Amino acid sequence: MEQAETLQSKRNQELKVFISNRESICGECGENLGSKAWITLAGEKGALCLGCADLDHLLFLPSGNVALTRRARKHSTLVAVVLKWSRARKRYERQGLMVEAQGLEKAEKECLADSEVRTRRKEREAVRRDEIDSKYVEEFAARVRELFPGCPTGREREMAEHACLKYSGRIGRSASAKAMDEVAVGLAVIAHIRHRETKYDELLAKGHDRWEARAAVEEAVDRVLQKWKAKS
Ligand SMILES: [Zn+2]
Repeated sequence: MEQAETLQSKRNQELKVFISNRESICGECGENLGSKAWITLAGEKGALCLGCADLDHLLFLPSGNVALTRRARKHSTLVAVVLKWSRARKRYERQGLMVEAQGLEKAEKECLADSEVRTRRKEREAVRRDEIDSKYVEEFAARVRELFPGCPTGREREMAEHACLKYSGRIGRSASAKAMDEVAVGLAVIAHIRHRETKYDELLAKGHDRWEARAAVEEAVDRVLQKWKAKS
């Protein structure tokens, strides 16, 4: 697809997320993403789900609030523009941005005087509470703490909520247990470290290929991992 080239090339190209208007299958994990999937385009692999593209830690901020959008962009290392094809106008239209949770929170704090934002934040928190299965989160967090006793306080919950949002909707009980096994929890912790403790997101934001960026931060990830595995 044509957009694939523009995604990673040249200048300060923004990362783009497309809301697909046809059936898509992820070119990496092979999952059928349905007809309204949020995807990125990655060269010969075609469509990638946001999980495989390592963008699923970002939150969607719909267009509309100019001040909030500007601040969220400023405070987020990694930003992707969300585009949707308009059949009527025959062009892609900007729906909003995907930004980092911390960046969005910081931006919201700055905008909190604004009552409209306060309302929106409440709505978002309510949606998030609905989506998060608290039992799953508790179990996952406990498992992280058990396997990585040196992990900073509070991070296990952050990882657990992310894992929950990612899996709870589409897996049953047995798959959920599988998601708690040592390998799966380890992968979740590695992904978290990559995003939060290394320059990975910065490299992605600069347009580096994911595999390139992963290789560049591998040692840094491993150092943190060993530290967290050890009892503090
Ligand atoms: Zn995928």
